[in-house]
Amino acid sequence: MADAVRALPFFYGNITREEAEDYLRQAGKASGLYLLRQSRNYLGGFALSLSSSGRYYHYTIERQQDETYAIAGGKSHRSPMDVIDYHSQEPDGLVCLLKKPCNRPKNMQPKVGAYEDFKEKLIREYVMQTWKLQGPALEQAIISQRPQLEKRIATTAHERMPWFHGGITREDSEPRLQNGSRTNGKFLIRQRDQSGSYALCLLHEGQVMHYRIDRDRSGKLSIPDGKKFDTLWQLVEHYSYKPDGLLRVLTEPCPRPDGAMGLAGHGHHGLVASIQTAADGLLPKIAAMLGFEKNPKTPPNDHSENLNPYETGVSKEAMPMDTEVYESPYADPDELRSSTVDRNHLLLEDGELGSGNFGTVIKGTYKMRKTEKTVAVKILKNDDNNQSVRDEMLREANVMQQLDNPYIVRMIGICEAENLMLVMELAELGPLNKFLQKNKQTSIKNITELVHQVSMGMKYLEEHNFVHRDLAARNVLLVTQHYAKISDFGLSKAVAEEHNYYKAKGHGKWPVKWYAPECINYFKFSCKSDVWSFGVLMWEAYSYGQKPYKGMKGNDVMQMIESGQRMDPPANCPPEMAELMRTCWTYKVDERPGFSVVEPRLREYYYDIAQ
Ligand code: AMP
Repeated sequence: MADAVRALPFFYGNITREEAEDYLRQAGKASGLYLLRQSRNYLGGFALSLSSSGRYYHYTIERQQDETYAIAGGKSHRSPMDVIDYHSQEPDGLVCLLKKPCNRPKNMQPKVGAYEDFKEKLIREYVMQTWKLQGPALEQAIISQRPQLEKRIATTAHERMPWFHGGITREDSEPRLQNGSRTNGKFLIRQRDQSGSYALCLLHEGQVMHYRIDRDRSGKLSIPDGKKFDTLWQLVEHYSYKPDGLLRVLTEPCPRPDGAMGLAGHGHHGLVASIQTAADGLLPKIAAMLGFEKNPKTPPNDHSENLNPYETGVSKEAMPMDTEVYESPYADPDELRSSTVDRNHLLLEDGELGSGNFGTVIKGTYKMRKTEKTVAVKILKNDDNNQSVRDEMLREANVMQQLDNPYIVRMIGICEAENLMLVMELAELGPLNKFLQKNKQTSIKNITELVHQVSMGMKYLEEHNFVHRDLAARNVLLVTQHYAKISDFGLSKAVAEEHNYYKAKGHGKWPVKWYAPECINYFKFSCKSDVWSFGVLMWEAYSYGQKPYKGMKGNDVMQMIESGQRMDPPANCPPEMAELMRTCWTYKVDERPGFSVVEPRLREYYYDIAQ
């Protein structure tokens, strides 16, 4: 959505209400002249500025919980563009119809907000410091969790800002403002109670004024009868350019006595500016001041003092990086990388996680040098200890050993003991199809998040010239409801870079419903045929784990595909995803996109609905 809006010629980005009025004035302020800008109060929201009979009107277009857009109290629409189309036909509460867009002057790009610009660096720093990630693991974390990271930063960044003084009393706040410089507009924010209520304390002509900042039921913050904001930093930004009901604008953040105010001395132009005054080289220092600490690989509850459901809801959701299996256990240089597991260090538990061709998969504990890991152990059936099955399992282990990606189940090692055992990372919530069959309330956003992670794992396989050949929802295992990993490399092959496909010698016991036509007709397997399977996997996911081509035989499916027909998208499947599925089912290999195209398309849609 963000990109689609940015491309609109009448979208101005992060400009103020006054700037919007200037542009409308310069364009002749005819009645019905309008422009769109980014909301400075609501994350992901917009504002519509409209000229009518020589006056200017501003309407907030809010992004709602169900991911639709609406002018407060008005009809919901799928996008801000749809809101505008609608109000070009129907005033429905607006002062007049939207008649003519006021386009940006030539060569002017939409204005990027100071925070937007800085956010990138802040996110990177946050991930590096919180999870101690670097290189590809860092990049993958940012790509897969950007919407969550943005929210976490937006809603918690104030905690270490120089103007945020925590839970001090009204009496304590006054001497802080009266000490040192007594500039008009010097301010601080203190936390009043545990329910998300704050106070803005402002120095005016030598006196300290206290304004309550309360949170409404939807989590929005405002001073009494004032504008509403999603975050404290947006509120501070707003009142530092406009008094808007306060006795004066905020000028200078009052330094916190704990020393976390090294930034305050640079003068104040809102939160972002105060961070921005530092050059890039100072960023780690700033992030340290913001208090990004190493997370002990458990769901974060570092904001547990914040009882407001809006914020806790945001910060409590565990991310893949919070789990034990985001990075390889061998990413720690102190752990000896070895492909064999010592049986004495492996404890097998009772109870089966599942069973497959080779035998059973059970839970276990593997004692490593520094840590103990819970693991999944695939145990070769004893009566099947014949050479061919054994070789097959060793081939699977050989493929897995070469892969290292957060969205792929990693092999920890092979253990030769009473049975041949393959020790893997544990993905306890099991196969995606079964999970969705049992959890029908899973949101489309959640499904898209998981499907996007699968596309990230597949993009990695594609880049490393491996074909999976058995990609299906049953072979995607969940670590948490928000973390998927690709598993089952029993049929996988490394492919030569030159001709990038694997030619099977003959027809095997194949999952035909997941196979592209060239697999069936010419036994040719490539990353592009994995893309076809990925389309079927998407269908399975958005249908909550239903069986594809229900009731049909393999031959009938092949005929259906050859005749140009494809499965209908599942009920309630977002149209964008239905279209992507269809694209994955492009008949000709050369015309079918690879994962390098599919992943960014999924990413874009995921960010759109998740922001
Ligand atoms: P497979 O033989 O690879 O098809 O695995 C059979 C079943 O065992 C899967 O469907 C899962 O339910 C379970 N399983 C396999 N690998 C794991 C794992 N790494 N973590 C948790 N469960 C697993």
